[in-house]
Amino acid sequence: MAKAIEVEEARREILSRVRVTGVEKVGLGEALGRRLAVDAVAETPFQPFDNSAMDGFAVRSADVAAASEDAPVALTIVDESRAGHPAERALGPGEAIAISTGAMLPTGADAVVRVEDTDRDSVDRVLVRVAACAGKDVRYAGEDIAAGATVLAAGAVLGAAELGALATIGADPAMVRRRPTVAVVTSGDELVGPGEPLGPGAIRNSNSRTLPALARLAGAEVVSVDWAADDPAATREALGRALEADVVVVSGGVSVGEHDHVKGALDELGAEKVFWRVALKPGGPTWFGTRGETLVFGLPGNPVSVMVTFLLFVRPALIAMAGGAPDGPRTTARLGATYEKPADRAHAARARLELTPEGWVVWPLRRRGSHVLTSMLAADCLAYFPADASMVKAGETIQIELLDQSSTTLGR
Ligand code: AMP
Ligand code: MG
Repeated sequence: MAKAIEVEEARREILSRVRVTGVEKVGLGEALGRRLAVDAVAETPFQPFDNSAMDGFAVRSADVAAASEDAPVALTIVDESRAGHPAERALGPGEAIAISTGAMLPTGADAVVRVEDTDRDSVDRVLVRVAACAGKDVRYAGEDIAAGATVLAAGAVLGAAELGALATIGADPAMVRRRPTVAVVTSGDELVGPGEPLGPGAIRNSNSRTLPALARLAGAEVVSVDWAADDPAATREALGRALEADVVVVSGGVSVGEHDHVKGALDELGAEKVFWRVALKPGGPTWFGTRGETLVFGLPGNPVSVMVTFLLFVRPALIAMAGGAPDGPRTTARLGATYEKPADRAHAARARLELTPEGWVVWPLRRRGSHVLTSMLAADCLAYFPADASMVKAGETIQIELLDQSSTTLGR
């Protein structure tokens, strides 16, 4: 039997075969979750003009330098600056211009006095009860974004704040990477779809739901979800159709059983094996190869194995294909309880994360069977223990792989 490859080497083999997808223009309304293809650079400053941080009066600070509750300073109101409607005239000595939050600071003004710090004693006269130094409650042009600043780097995932930032600099449509396409094939005679009766020996096909979801969460476009019976011709047909996509993910049928036909079918279809079997638990019988530019992943069928191997091998490839950093969902945490294993293959244990005053602590879950899909429901991450580790003590810092990817983790 083929010698198992180490997890890190497997990732390197995969990532070295990744080709970044092409660039397309997408309106910001449709760009949530996409990755930027180029740096987003602001042509003009934001905010574009000096403006008020408060509702109040634009003043000359010199005029109100001596103002106090006991000795308010009277100013003549000569105009108004509303949001979107700047004042028409400049501010002279002894004058005030009513101003709204975000409205342009009138020429001649260098400070804003909040409306709460004033009394209006007639239509065109305001009494200022506090002193204001130059710059008080003024937001200067370019404070947020300077002209020429890089607001987002290529590869960033577009979440809510990113879309807002792009809108702010007028980068709509955005230049983003095409989503990698993924074709999913599940295999197994025992699998039945929703609504079909569960005959003797049958189980429901859960991978047909987990795999497309994982692919979409990783930024891919799922172009097909197919099923193949445990039969060489059926497997070959389904895989033949799937090979049109950038990435094929097939679950089940990659092991050594007499009814495992995936490897044979891939071989006949001209897919070249890069590795089969990884020194990993769960997920040992993982197969990876290519046909032309298509990356092909044969993942073991057990519902947990399929998720773990997707997260460790397929997700980084999809992220890299869209121009992101494949290690984005990786980070570290302190181990909560000592973990023991033989020093032979790596473990990717389902685990829970807890935020403590000392930082994040990771607790591997007790239910470890690769068929126990519900154990994934309680998991936040995979706790990673390298092949050569045997006893990893509570308190040690270990590597974890986050299950959920906020745009923050993906953005890296
Ligand atoms: P295999 O990798 O085909 O040997 O399958 C390993 C185990 O995973 C068996 O118990 C299968 O019934 C189960 N399995 C395979 N594919 C699926 C699937 N799509 N959904 C749920 N369980 C599956
Ligand atoms: Mg099977």
